[in-house]
Amino acid sequence: MNGTPSSERIHIGIFGSRNAGKSSLMNALTGQDRSVVSSVKGTTTDTVSKAMEILPLGPVVLMDAPGFDDEGELGSLRVEKCMKTLERADAALFAIDPSSPMSNDEKLFYSRIQSRNIPSIVVITKKDEVPDYGYGSSLPENVRVMHVSSRTGEGIKELKDAIGAFLIKDRQLPIAGDLITPGDVVLLVIPIDKAAPKGRLILPQQQTIRDILDADGRVMITSVERVAECIADLRPKLVITDSQAFRPVSLSVPEDVLLTSFSILFARHKGNLEEAVKGIAAIKHLKDGDRILISEGCTHHRQCGDIGSEKIPKLLRKLTGLELCLEFSSGQGFPDDLSPYSLIIHCGGCMLTERDMQNRYRKADEQDVPITNYGLFIAYANGILERSLSVFPDYQKMLL
Ligand code: SF4
Repeated sequence: MNGTPSSERIHIGIFGSRNAGKSSLMNALTGQDRSVVSSVKGTTTDTVSKAMEILPLGPVVLMDAPGFDDEGELGSLRVEKCMKTLERADAALFAIDPSSPMSNDEKLFYSRIQSRNIPSIVVITKKDEVPDYGYGSSLPENVRVMHVSSRTGEGIKELKDAIGAFLIKDRQLPIAGDLITPGDVVLLVIPIDKAAPKGRLILPQQQTIRDILDADGRVMITSVERVAECIADLRPKLVITDSQAFRPVSLSVPEDVLLTSFSILFARHKGNLEEAVKGIAAIKHLKDGDRILISEGCTHHRQCGDIGSEKIPKLLRKLTGLELCLEFSSGQGFPDDLSPYSLIIHCGGCMLTERDMQNRYRKADEQDVPITNYGLFIAYANGILERSLSVFPDYQKMLL
């Protein structure tokens, strides 16, 4: 379980006002003093994360967020961190100190958790210090309320059991496992160039291999140069290529073999393929001076020929012939205000949680900003968009 990537773990945020007992709760749940505990308000200045396993839920990441009610200049930065943590949370523990009535700030923040449909448990902390005033009864009936003492450990096991049983996540869509039947051969095309990390495969490639093996498929891997001979030898059902090699690979793959890219598969697995397909239409309406956001989910070291900072900008300018203003974001730097942009082109987001990726699509939709995906954009720029979606006929029809 230790090897489960963070992006595949269920992220559980611990939220609450300053001094609600969040850090003590984190320490009690993990059995470690990972978070600094103090009676001084605002001790948690950044989100502290800890990977662990909670059965039967499986691998999770607990995230101890700064208080949402912090004040002052530094405090507002902490509130921002808290809100960013909320965007990544698949589930929430909402810590409440029962020694005072629920404040308006607490009510407002809890309503944010509910409006985002984040499964949550309200945790009344400090059970050993403050008598139970029936605090939980002031909350709506459908809210799960539990009482714990992080100091004595009372109620912590029950809380873990409840997290395991109550917060079980709906399984997200597979990467490619549902596109094949047992025994099918899938050919993965992985360019071995300057941008490829030395001595290893990158996360989307590793995850795709695992997903196909889980579906009892047979996986073959090759470089771009050997695609034609692999096709002749193996007759794969599906070819999945790195988007950057879409054009040369498409020339070697016969029309009766399905062809798509890792990035497009991840747009469905984590993002919103429908919105990403719709977003492509915005390219035709771009004008000189339009601002385009090119966004990546991680902060990898950029090398010569980097897809986000070099290849996509070059293709975009060549395709449109326009003077566009390109801006970039990476990691958790995805802006809240998307209104200045005419289009967002996002990577597959393999390092982001499903919730985080979904939130980015939601934000773009709420602000009426078209959003698409690296793989779809590169396929479009190379005139093979329709073909790259042949594996998803419903989305392919949207292009007609
Ligand atoms: S998060 Fe995006 S840029 Fe980073 S490795 Fe995954 S797909 Fe590539």
